Amino acid sequence: MTKKEKVKKILQLLKKEYKTVGPFIQWSNELELLVGIILSAQCTDERVNMVTKELFQKYKTARDYANADISELEKEVYSTGFYKSKARALKETGKIIDSEFGGKVPDKLEDLLKLRGVSHKTAYLVLAKAYGKYEGLAVDTHVFRLTKRFGLSNANSPIIMSRELSKIIEPKNYLKWNEYCITHGRKICVRKPKCDECVLNKICAKNI
Ligand code: SF4
Repeated sequence: MTKKEKVKKILQLLKKEYKTVGPFIQWSNELELLVGIILSAQCTDERVNMVTKELFQKYKTARDYANADISELEKEVYSTGFYKSKARALKETGKIIDSEFGGKVPDKLEDLLKLRGVSHKTAYLVLAKAYGKYEGLAVDTHVFRLTKRFGLSNANSPIIMSRELSKIIEPKNYLKWNEYCITHGRKICVRKPKCDECVLNKICAKNI
């Protein structure tokens, strides 16, 4: 089986297994999506959703974040961890979006990467989820672990893995790959994988 065939098969099997993917962070506009992803670093989506429920009531525009009192913002995002750097990232990102992009979250990769706290992973997710643009595959900790276990990449960094995956996964499936890996990585292919219960155990490299 080629790598491309394996990708296709894995997606088919996971689609059959999971009627729905997620849950992921909750958002209703591009700014909320971006803020949620920034806060989700080293934090669960459940915790982020608890925090943003109140945060989004108070901060509705990029300028609101730009004008935020930093110690208040730190307190508000405290429970997501790394609260000092996350609060700074939100404030700085708010400033840049407000002053350079007319208050709108940019829809180009190079512009998103100018924002504070925005990695390639974050930018690819914002582009795909908010704008339907598939410019790169977002590699998070689940995608990184599972893709290696599947035997599809040996990359030692998310950026390199993203590049490798773009050669074997069609752009329209970038987001699916990310979301199915997260869903399967949380339920079955956890740190100590439950291979006996896994629908992929006949094709997964770790198991053959
Ligand atoms: S067979 Fe095991 S290692 Fe492979 S995807 Fe399933 S749980 Fe993960």
